[in-house]
Amino acid sequence: MRSVSILATGSELLDGRVVDTNSNFVAKELSERGLKLKRVLVVDDDMSELVQGLRDLSTVSDFIITSGGLGPTSDDLTRDMVAAFFGVGLSEHPDAVAHLEGFFAKRGRVLDSQNRRQTLLPIGATMVPNANGTAPGFAMTRDGGPTVVSLSGVPREFKPMFLDTVLPMIEARCGGVEPIQRATMKTFGLPESTVGRLIEGLKLPQEITVSYRAAFPEVHVVLKAPKSFDLAPHVASVKDALQRDTIFTENPAESFITSLQQLLISKGLTVATAESCTGGMVSEILTRTPGSSAVFHGGVVAYSNDIKERIVGVSHETLETTGAVSAETVRELAKNVRAKFKTSFGVSISGVAGPDGGSEAKPVGTFFVGISSESRSFEMKCLYVSERQNVRSYASYVALDLVRRAVLGLPAPEGYPIFR
Ligand code: ATP
Ligand code: MG
Repeated sequence: MRSVSILATGSELLDGRVVDTNSNFVAKELSERGLKLKRVLVVDDDMSELVQGLRDLSTVSDFIITSGGLGPTSDDLTRDMVAAFFGVGLSEHPDAVAHLEGFFAKRGRVLDSQNRRQTLLPIGATMVPNANGTAPGFAMTRDGGPTVVSLSGVPREFKPMFLDTVLPMIEARCGGVEPIQRATMKTFGLPESTVGRLIEGLKLPQEITVSYRAAFPEVHVVLKAPKSFDLAPHVASVKDALQRDTIFTENPAESFITSLQQLLISKGLTVATAESCTGGMVSEILTRTPGSSAVFHGGVVAYSNDIKERIVGVSHETLETTGAVSAETVRELAKNVRAKFKTSFGVSISGVAGPDGGSEAKPVGTFFVGISSESRSFEMKCLYVSERQNVRSYASYVALDLVRRAVLGLPAPEGYPIFR
């Protein structure tokens, strides 16, 4: 297959002022069409660096897209870079003159000498129209070498130039590209390394490309294959490897919370929370999406023992004998908040988020989750060793995942993270 690379130019990309979204855009568009980006190279506005960058990419690419540096100022070096790369000079291109004169005439202005610089293209190049700006792009090729296409760096100019002109060129050169199919599985509970190991163990056929995305604390898996390939049996084996119940959705557009919310709504179930170390995070997650009022009734941030006792009714004796971070405490929190709020589920969390407050018996990262419902109540002790914020996020997800499992009638895992 023909390979495509990008040379993104501009010092602003290298000093952190601007994020290179143009490359990301091209990567997505190519991937949609079953094409792969070979390399992305980001280079400073420096003539020798730029030409060297083109040379480096030309050894591995049939198609090089450059982004930026087409404007009328002295730091816009792309025209000279491409001319130097091909060993040609610059000359005024009639299409570029027509474009710029037309652009200025439309605005009641005449083309000045500063802007006229933009009509100079490497000799032998063809113009790539830019409907949204002054700087025309251009494409240049030489027998046996790569095609170089230079586009404006401004994203709202870059994108249509890429879609309207460059993509058809790539598709024509790459021949009929086979469209691809995708299967998405979003998981929670398994560490990314475990997900990787389980899937790698399957030795999937080479037609399938597997990609992993850690969207903490979720891990997303995407399988890609040509449309003509029978992907379904392999999706089934991946699901078995992940033991199905760690997958909360297969819909790429659905989040953890929207899938849980839909599940609860479909069964007419409601939730109330009593949170200690997560300080309301579970409530926050439950209220992220519109329609949450059908599911979430309310919660208590029961941070101090006094509030746990006076407001949520945890017995003084429990707090004295087992402590706030205990199965007994979360059991009483979940049971009492469910009764007070009259919901289907009571959910509670109490733990040691750190960095201080750990002990040998309950090190930092220890948390207990309590789930109370009419048919079944249980508590789970977990250890997730990480920074404070991660422990809190993770604990919140565990609580909600246990609700999801309870609604679906799935067994609770032995612990979180789930290692298999
Ligand atoms: P102009 O005609 O505006 O000078 P240009 O082709 O010379 O366009 P640049 O000067 O390099 O492009 O960049 C123009 C604008 O686009 C700047 O605001 C820059 O931050 C932004 N930009 C440049 N490259 C990228 C990129 N790869 N991703 C996102 N934005 C970019
Ligand atoms: Mg510029």
